[in-house]
Amino acid sequence: MDVFKMMSSHDHEQVVFCNEPDIGLKALIAIHDTTLGPSLGGCRFYPYKTDEEGLNDVLRLSRGMTYKASIAGLNLGGGKSVIIGNPETDKNEYLFRAFGRFVDGLGGRYIAAEDVNTSVRDMEWVRMETQYVTGISRALGGSGDPSVVTAFGVFLGIKAALKTKRGTEDLNGIKVAIQGVGHVGYNLCRYLYDAGAEIFVSDINQEAVDRAVAEFGAKAIDGNKIHALDVDVFAPCAMGAVLNDKTIPEIKAPIVGGAANNQLAASEEHGAALLEQGILYAPDYAINSGGLINVANELEGYNRERAFKQAEGIYDTLMEIFRMSADEGIPTNVASDRLAENRIRSVAKLKTFYTCTPRLVFKRG
Ligand code: NAD
Repeated sequence: MDVFKMMSSHDHEQVVFCNEPDIGLKALIAIHDTTLGPSLGGCRFYPYKTDEEGLNDVLRLSRGMTYKASIAGLNLGGGKSVIIGNPETDKNEYLFRAFGRFVDGLGGRYIAAEDVNTSVRDMEWVRMETQYVTGISRALGGSGDPSVVTAFGVFLGIKAALKTKRGTEDLNGIKVAIQGVGHVGYNLCRYLYDAGAEIFVSDINQEAVDRAVAEFGAKAIDGNKIHALDVDVFAPCAMGAVLNDKTIPEIKAPIVGGAANNQLAASEEHGAALLEQGILYAPDYAINSGGLINVANELEGYNRERAFKQAEGIYDTLMEIFRMSADEGIPTNVASDRLAENRIRSVAKLKTFYTCTPRLVFKRG
């Protein structure tokens, strides 16, 4: 594998290989872009079959974080880490503390957080060795579970999409199909229910479905059909790649907006397919940025109210994305990427400008 070539293909700044054989730690930290600020992104624990697979994943995910932080208006760059191992058997205090020491060695260029197969407890072990970690429990001054803020952002994103498509953001009687009623999906149900929406849900976990039916009067739907339901909004809140060659032609909802990451199986092709079909797609990393906003808030001393206030910006961001998409006839995911890239470019220019401007020296007397 040609590591430098892989890094250069998407302009990654740095990759750190963390190796501590006595403890069993094999980890990669990727820093994609720190133009806006220190890189922040989750630490994933996964049994990658090869080191190359792990490297590919960490490069792809860290780049995604650059875009998410930028579109969310945060002064943060994109980073991510992966620990290669079996999350069922290989997790322990020493491994996470060893990882924490590597994070600390970067002096703040990378800030870790939870991700797939890592928990608040794991991050608290990382915290024993470095201050550069977020996603700590509320009891220890952290931000705790981000899913409520994520759900709030998705709720606002759906409102922005309704405003764009129907001229009103009123949710009364609006039919929303939610795929996956876990942490975010459940909280999204609550916001939608309170706003008078009619809710349809599917989940591979029957208990999660039963809870949504009992608490929000949701209608349970066969998991394979949820995307094809004749509703106003389809909200993917489970796994990625749900918008693909098979599902897109079957979608009847004029709006797709949900929390799941990487919803487009192939971003160029499927973003364009949604536009062609007249479906207004709320780009995943823009509509689900509430979680990142919440975690980023921890860096300034966590304040729940401020996190929700900042997440309110998701509505305006999506309106801007939808406007740009309509004005320029481009898919919404392309519009979102351009806005994120523009912000990075403008901030980079501003930083260069101010560093190069000669300062006036006033001499007295
Ligand atoms: P979660 O694990 O709590 O919930 C996911 C739910 O989806 C589970 O109930 C699971 O049983 C269900 N599910 C899995 N496969 C399914 C399928 N094929 N059909 C229907 N349901 C299925 O996760 P979460 O924290 O609610 O996150 C949901 C999605 O949003 C994920 O893609 C996550 O990466 C993304 N996301 C979450 C946050 C956050 O704050 N938690 C932030 C940004 C993005």
